[in-house]
Amino acid sequence: MKYEMVIGLEVHTELSTKSKIFCSCTTEFGGEPNTHCCPICTGMPGVLPKLNKKVVEYGIAVGLATNCEITPYGKFDRKNYFYPDLPKAYQVSQLYLPICRNGSVEIEGEGFHKTIGIHEIHMEEDAGKLIHDPIFDTTRADYNRCGVPLLEIVSEPDFRSAEEVIAYLETLKATLQYLGVSDCKMQEGSLRADVNLSVRPEGQEEFGTRTEMKNLNSFRAIARAIAAEKKRQIEVVESGEKVIQETRRWDDDAGKSYAMRSKEDAQDYRYFPEPDLAPVVISEAWKEKIRASLPMLPRERKKKYIEEYGLSEYDARLITEIKALADYFDEVNDIVKNPKEVANWLLGDFMRLAKEGEDDSFNILLDAAKMAEIIKMIKENLINRNTGKDVFFAVWKENLDPRAYVEEHDLAMVGDDSLVRDTVAKVLAANPKTVEEYKGGKTKVLGFLVGQCMKELKGKADPGAINAMLRDALK
Ligand code: ADP
Ligand code: MG
Ligand code: ZN
Repeated sequence: MKYEMVIGLEVHTELSTKSKIFCSCTTEFGGEPNTHCCPICTGMPGVLPKLNKKVVEYGIAVGLATNCEITPYGKFDRKNYFYPDLPKAYQVSQLYLPICRNGSVEIEGEGFHKTIGIHEIHMEEDAGKLIHDPIFDTTRADYNRCGVPLLEIVSEPDFRSAEEVIAYLETLKATLQYLGVSDCKMQEGSLRADVNLSVRPEGQEEFGTRTEMKNLNSFRAIARAIAAEKKRQIEVVESGEKVIQETRRWDDDAGKSYAMRSKEDAQDYRYFPEPDLAPVVISEAWKEKIRASLPMLPRERKKKYIEEYGLSEYDARLITEIKALADYFDEVNDIVKNPKEVANWLLGDFMRLAKEGEDDSFNILLDAAKMAEIIKMIKENLINRNTGKDVFFAVWKENLDPRAYVEEHDLAMVGDDSLVRDTVAKVLAANPKTVEEYKGGKTKVLGFLVGQCMKELKGKADPGAINAMLRDALK
């Protein structure tokens, strides 16, 4: 029997507002434990929360960018549960009237192009963090994160493969970054995804029972967790048992998930309207003002790169998927005015080096003007392409000046035509057999002769010029 996976995602993104959702404490990541909090975000009795307007604006922006309907009259609800990192014993969230509904995100990748439905987006507050101390066998609570604003983006169960899930997350991440509403650092938890997954026999309409996996903090972990959970559920079904609806914790080191708790239903939380907050009223005018201020989003930018710059669909997607890379591309291209050449540089070793470091991080160490300088030096025929690559590797890490580097290491090409001509003559004289072969019709050996000349000239020559001179001499 063949099985099909059905996946729906709940994505939490921490918003990059300066202050928290209901108080004026900073949202800054880290800090000494319990120094970024106040009576409001630690839920002292009698305090009153006050909604941060920026959170609503960010929510509207994300909703518009994902084709959602914006709720003109929304509300907050209390979701009650006891957990040591949530001192109030409830989370202020939105159940009945979330800020956005019925949206969609287009995704594409190898062999698929489809639309994923967005069920809803709601605003809520983050909880604190528990830090386990294995030496003293104690657990400490750090409330700095309590009240950091979150948007929870809930998809429809529209995914059928891990590739679709990753493509969606990449698109969503790019969209959030373009909007400037979140830094989306998965390592710091500002973008987190819960994966709801079920399996069903191929052809069956009805969905199977789902599990929810939490604690997924990199794309790689998500892909691994999906593969493992699919396999586990198929094994359960094949052995004649039933999949249990539960929350599971993924342990990426072990490559396994563990049951955490059986899955609650909404009624278990005793949701009720939050009495301390006024309804969220969003006027048509406010919504349209935000719509008008939206920046160019990844999809449009990709289109521009294809239509105006002539980049391939694939290259345009890779570049625009990472906002920092697209911005860098523009900066370099503004100087060198050769989009295809710039794309070739950025999508090779450049991309690999920028991705070194932590999972899903992207760090550009070389200034755009310096990258442009390397490309310019090749165009000016000051250095050849190979030397250009070497220079790139040499200057990347410490952001050195490439032109100064070329000078310092005497890497400029031999400009002296007579020296190149002498070298060509010398190489031909030293390789009579090869010359014979060439004249006998084996023109492929020309490459070898170019290589020999290059070696003589310590790599500092224009291969095109050598090639032409060799051909000339061999006529
Ligand atoms: P809850 O809020 O209790 O987690 P929801 O009904 O809001 O439950 O669903 C959460 C997520 O699970 C949504 O992204 C939804 O698309 C997905 N989902 C629902 N049913 C299934 C299923 N049978 N298989 C896979 N995913 C599912
Ligand atoms: Mg859920
Ligand atoms: Zn506070």
